[in-house]
Amino acid sequence: MKNTNRVAVITGASSGIGQALSRILVSEGYRVALLARRLDRISALAEELSNGTIAIQADVTDRASVVVAAERVQQELGGADILINNAGVMLPAPFASGKRSEHRQMVETNLLGAMTVTEVFLDQLRAKKGDLVNISSVAGRVAPAGFAAYSATKWGLNGWSEALRVELQPDIRVMVVEPGAVATELSDHITDDESKKAAQDYRDNVAMPPQDIAEVIAFALGRPKRITLNEILVRPTIQSM
Ligand code: NDP
Repeated sequence: MKNTNRVAVITGASSGIGQALSRILVSEGYRVALLARRLDRISALAEELSNGTIAIQADVTDRASVVVAAERVQQELGGADILINNAGVMLPAPFASGKRSEHRQMVETNLLGAMTVTEVFLDQLRAKKGDLVNISSVAGRVAPAGFAAYSATKWGLNGWSEALRVELQPDIRVMVVEPGAVATELSDHITDDESKKAAQDYRDNVAMPPQDIAEVIAFALGRPKRITLNEILVRPTIQSM
């Protein structure tokens, strides 16, 4: 066991990358706060992982719920050393298809949600001289048809993170992780039939397991404080885009 005293807050811990990362960090001795909307899932995971893991229901689009989560992290774990902004939704569709609520949900969750959670936890990160990790995407560098709004959120995360790097380092390390395709439930929620089929074919034939990217994040967190892996792009080897 290492890192026994570090506290990691992971948004979107109820499935996929967040869940895989929670498992790895707990196995490495971090104390972890699991945040997501589906309390049943994170409660079951917290019970399974034990070692001080706590589950807190929070919606990143609802600032009040994030404030309550931060208070609990402070009281029960002594504050966050690490914040992983991982919560996200991917709802691709042709931009002209009228999916206005999907566009709004992506911006409010992926970009504004990450900003809200960071703003709320910033004092804790400052107090601990901690680490901030933003989960962006390869879609923050390439923009396939149908991904206009999603790519905008990930491009936005990259720009925001770069400005935060300049503002917050050296006190708080700022890292952006840009995964290629990862086999998670992300595409299950797509509402445009053609886009959903294409995304699920990609997931079934190209994607890497979430453990692969979670291990990379854990590696980055484990580097000595004198260096920062500011930007990490990881594709499955067979992914061309
Ligand atoms: P999943 O769908 O498995 O996980 C998404 C997580 O986000 C869930 O735990 C979900 O929890 C949470 N979430 C969604 N909306 C909210 C909200 N409003 N408030 C709080 N939590 C929320 O997908 P992944 O693990 O694949 O995605 C994780 C991140 O990785 C996302 O940011 C995604 O954009 C990014 N990514 C994924 C890639 C992939 O191919 N899978 C590739 C590149 C980046 P709940 O529903 O319980 O709230």
